[in-house]
Amino acid sequence: MDIEVSRRITATRGMLDDKVALITGSTSGIGLGVARSFASAGASVVLNGFGNSQEINDTLEGLQRATGSRVAYSAADMARPDEIADMVNLAIETFGRLDIVVNNAGIFHVGPIDQVPVEKWNAVLGINLSSAFHTIRLALPAMRQQGGGRIINIASALALVGAPLTSAYAAAKHGIVGLTKVVALETAEDNITCNALCPGNVWTPLAEAHIAEQVKTHGLPREQVIRNILLAEQPNKRFAVVEEIGAFATFLASDAAASITGAALPVDGGWTAH
Ligand code: NAD
Repeated sequence: MDIEVSRRITATRGMLDDKVALITGSTSGIGLGVARSFASAGASVVLNGFGNSQEINDTLEGLQRATGSRVAYSAADMARPDEIADMVNLAIETFGRLDIVVNNAGIFHVGPIDQVPVEKWNAVLGINLSSAFHTIRLALPAMRQQGGGRIINIASALALVGAPLTSAYAAAKHGIVGLTKVVALETAEDNITCNALCPGNVWTPLAEAHIAEQVKTHGLPREQVIRNILLAEQPNKRFAVVEEIGAFATFLASDAAASITGAALPVDGGWTAH
């Protein structure tokens, strides 16, 4: 994407002034893109995720320097409810409130259902789905007390349609759309919205790992794997960039999106229009 288009996408200054946002799985990829967009729009942000501690420190410092927003970090493992509780408490204790939760942390597993290891199924469901249940149940009291909030669940095109070899991932992502609808209904009169954002292919380290895996599985050149396998179902034949997801999440987190709730919103280049 050229720099001018990228600049226009990220021109959201002031949209989230005085808001506090917690983004799970934000040391990389889409989560980091969302954190950057939120911080650029004025929000204080709590990052979370795994990685090298020096790189995480550099990310936090860079984000603070580039945006002037306040940043904090939680190393909580999204597979562990006790650590998720510590993370939500850290956000509230550090910044005094919690306005926006983005459930983004996720892992992927590819393989036929009869060969999915049980522990892999449990891990995919735990990190992609149950973690969102925990952040939501733990954040809602603060949101209700403050008089409002925004919950954004990063789902997938595979939350809306199936694809072979993705049983655990597609089940978790379809599940998060159900969770989104129920939370939206339960919070509809509380000035809280809850939506699922459903990306197609997005250029991130997770996508890179998936490409490498597919190159190995199919023994095909990288370009062929990208166009004919990964983008086979995606009519626009391009990966989205994380700034696009960040900009949409910023809009959903803003006052302008107060009436959008309970929706599963595709950002998938037409994938689910088939
Ligand atoms: P990524 O691998 O680049 O980033 C994942 C993030 O989650 C990292 O920060 C990682 O440290 C964190 N994480 C993983 N396990 C964790 C755990 N147990 N506890 C805490 N943090 C953990 O992935 P990405 O491509 O940016 O994906 C982010 C989300 O977007 C996922 O939910 C994924 O399913 C979804 N998604 C991605 C794509 C895509 O094409 N990249 C498409 C649709 C949906």
